[in-house]
Amino acid sequence: MASPKITKLELVVFQHQIDDMGTDYNGFNQVYEAGSSVTASSTVLRIHTDTGITGEYLAGPASRTVHGLDQVSGYLLGKNPFERELIYNDLKRGLRHTDRTAMGMVDVALWDFAGKIYGVPIHQLLGGWRTSIPAYASTYHGDENGGLSTPEQFADYAEQCYDIGYRAFKIHGWGDAPISREVENVLEVGRRVGDRMSLMIDPACEYNTWGEALLVGRACDEAGFFWLEDPYKDGGVSMFGHQRLREKIDTPILQTEHIFGLEGHVDFIVNGGTDFVRAGVYEDGGITGAMKVAHAAEGFGLDVEFHGGGLAHRHCIAAVRNANFYELGLLNPKIKSSQPPVYPPEFTDELNGVDANGHVAVPQGPGLGVEMDWDYIEAHKVDTLTRE
Ligand SMILES: [Mg+2]
Repeated sequence: MASPKITKLELVVFQHQIDDMGTDYNGFNQVYEAGSSVTASSTVLRIHTDTGITGEYLAGPASRTVHGLDQVSGYLLGKNPFERELIYNDLKRGLRHTDRTAMGMVDVALWDFAGKIYGVPIHQLLGGWRTSIPAYASTYHGDENGGLSTPEQFADYAEQCYDIGYRAFKIHGWGDAPISREVENVLEVGRRVGDRMSLMIDPACEYNTWGEALLVGRACDEAGFFWLEDPYKDGGVSMFGHQRLREKIDTPILQTEHIFGLEGHVDFIVNGGTDFVRAGVYEDGGITGAMKVAHAAEGFGLDVEFHGGGLAHRHCIAAVRNANFYELGLLNPKIKSSQPPVYPPEFTDELNGVDANGHVAVPQGPGLGVEMDWDYIEAHKVDTLTRE
């Protein structure tokens, strides 16, 4: 094939409504709130080429993608869509003064293009290790509105998830809450399902102090938790703070969700700041960048755990040995659905998106491997940003 070229970028913005959804104390964490609703704006990036094949990616909320289009479009038009490694390195350098997340959506769309040209799913191009993946039910943050408002409600929900098939459950705790309730939540969920589920807690950097992280970490030890993730308000970036925390508790720590890119991850590992290594296509430069992190972790003898769901992560996890789970969420017993309904149920990250063994499916079609419901997207489209 002669050198193909990228001819046009499109970012399609469409909306869907999430019912019974509000926000907690400072407006950042989305939580259950009866009668409230949120209008979510999602985006699909389409990278057109002169081959007639288009790379497409459901790239996430408009608030995280739209600003990136003009950061990359001038560079990308005319480039060879097969040169992902060159594009990764050029954009990494070119965006060094700003947030580099636009690399992620570009790279995933280019992998989709490649898979479609070759006629195979991305996980097959990446390696091919497994065809289904154990998932954990990842909750919405605790709320004060009767959804996940008490340790008993979290434990009830863990049991409900167990009955569906899940064998792992991750708590996102409360924002701005007394630490005693966080500790009690860990202990109660541990008492109820700790003998049959892998349990994790992700305070999402909400605790004010290292000392509060230590208190919850000790509860995790008592309850046999599988990991403690991003506990306190260092923002998830202190190698030294987490190395000290690791000295004091037995529960493995999961850090590096907020360390964007390969080199920072390796620095974090060698400085003893984490046990599990976090990677993501949004944070780390697409499938290309996230797989570099995954293989770096493998080289250190560590496991990588991908942040959040989505088809791109199903392909990545399907292609690596050293990963335990797929993160399915976010979930709350009283929120019926929160994802844009553009994929069949087995590829949509809702509560019933797992099989009886608690696994999610790996797409087998070309590229990302699942057709989007373009009738739905067109019917709910609010904008198309085009660069050519
Ligand atoms: Mg997290």
